[in-house]
Amino acid sequence: MDGTASCEEAVLSYLTAIEQQKDLNAYIHVYGEEALARARELDRQRRSGKPMARLHGVVIGLKDVIAYKDHPLTAASRILGGYTSLYNATVVDRMLAEEAILIGHLNCDEFAMGSSNENSAYGNVLNARDKSRVPGGSSGGSAVAVQAGLCMLSLGSDTGGSIRQPADFCGIIGLKPTYGRVSRYGLIAYASSFDQIGIFGRSVRDVALLLEVIAGEDEYDSTIKRQAPPVWKDAPSQKYRIAYFKEALDHPGLDPEIRETILQRTEEWREAGHTVEAIDFELLDYIVPAYYVLTTAEASSNLARFDGVRYGYRTGDRQLELTEFYKRTRSEGFGREVKRRILLGTFVLSAGFYDAYFTKAQQVRRLLVERTNLIFKDFDVIILPTAPSTAWHTGEKMDDPISMYLADIYTVYANLTGIPGISLPLFGHTNGMPFGVQAMTSRFNELYLLQFSHQMMQQ
Ligand code: GLN
Repeated sequence: MDGTASCEEAVLSYLTAIEQQKDLNAYIHVYGEEALARARELDRQRRSGKPMARLHGVVIGLKDVIAYKDHPLTAASRILGGYTSLYNATVVDRMLAEEAILIGHLNCDEFAMGSSNENSAYGNVLNARDKSRVPGGSSGGSAVAVQAGLCMLSLGSDTGGSIRQPADFCGIIGLKPTYGRVSRYGLIAYASSFDQIGIFGRSVRDVALLLEVIAGEDEYDSTIKRQAPPVWKDAPSQKYRIAYFKEALDHPGLDPEIRETILQRTEEWREAGHTVEAIDFELLDYIVPAYYVLTTAEASSNLARFDGVRYGYRTGDRQLELTEFYKRTRSEGFGREVKRRILLGTFVLSAGFYDAYFTKAQQVRRLLVERTNLIFKDFDVIILPTAPSTAWHTGEKMDDPISMYLADIYTVYANLTGIPGISLPLFGHTNGMPFGVQAMTSRFNELYLLQFSHQMMQQ
């Protein structure tokens, strides 16, 4: 807060905006009274001379896959209907300790599976730029809430692009940190070796500040690297060594206008003294299949816990024998896309097919990591489009899951290799929609990635 508005005024203005733009369907639950009470308390403390913490009065929305004690948690699924969190996610504890105000839980694709926010038991989210279009997914509500001014910053999760792609579709910044940077404790798991919590915002500095708060070691998540969180520092303007994948820009599925715009920008970067090189990346066509084999396998295991006994929804008929009870509960509780993925994942893990699919996909993942390590010996940053097109129209891809999956071509790479990625809202399309460019660095190099992003956003 800069002292010109109170926390209470800030919360009130967000609550009004949320009410006025209810049709966007960005929030599943708004915690209005509670946010106001907290804002008043923060105002009181500040006025009594208490020093402000790092997120004092910052109004933040949470994707509805992040646990907030004593609040509902739905994953946008019927199967979690009526469930209330018993504890806070680590990121929630850390934000609250820094005096953030959590204003609500945001809509998303069910269990974070999707690219358009059309797979939600709570209905579609609309893109505020053009309401006939999707906001992207799966963190569509988190993106739209920042896009439409319904909170200052929001958290999402990114397993294969779910932060970067909706940020791209909505014209804002979306950061997926390195795998192992931000604790997943309290995040509903989709594919545990891919999932990361990340940030939506409008400025690189804001995103950097929130990352600084939520990142770092956590005794509840053993995959977190023991390393101090990145702390933002202004850096002098630098010359970067930038690579892009030739096959990615030449891909027939890429919108030609996006291709031309990005190539033209790389030309300007060259003129400004950066090195920009097109490199061969023959593995491109394997990454979407590898991603969908591995993530559905992990999902089929992670989602086994939703059985109607321990959590949320259970089928109405209590006379059923146990297996039939599980079946009925899960058939009624899960949506179409989630069922498709549980089936796919169970199939690729089944005895007769394990080596053909799961083992192969693990091998592809290993090759990708090795290739990526080599690339970062010669380059500082990899850039790619974030998505092959701008936001499509609602309904356009719902009958064609394969084409929806293929639209993840540029984002799943960072999750397969664990590197951080950010989508920067640099461009506008002649169709009226925004789009960006995606930048990635080697693992745990977020500070550098953010400094690069800041510099590129200034030009
Ligand atoms: N669109 C991708 C998928 O459906 C990404 C999802 C995500 O990152 N959570 O799997």
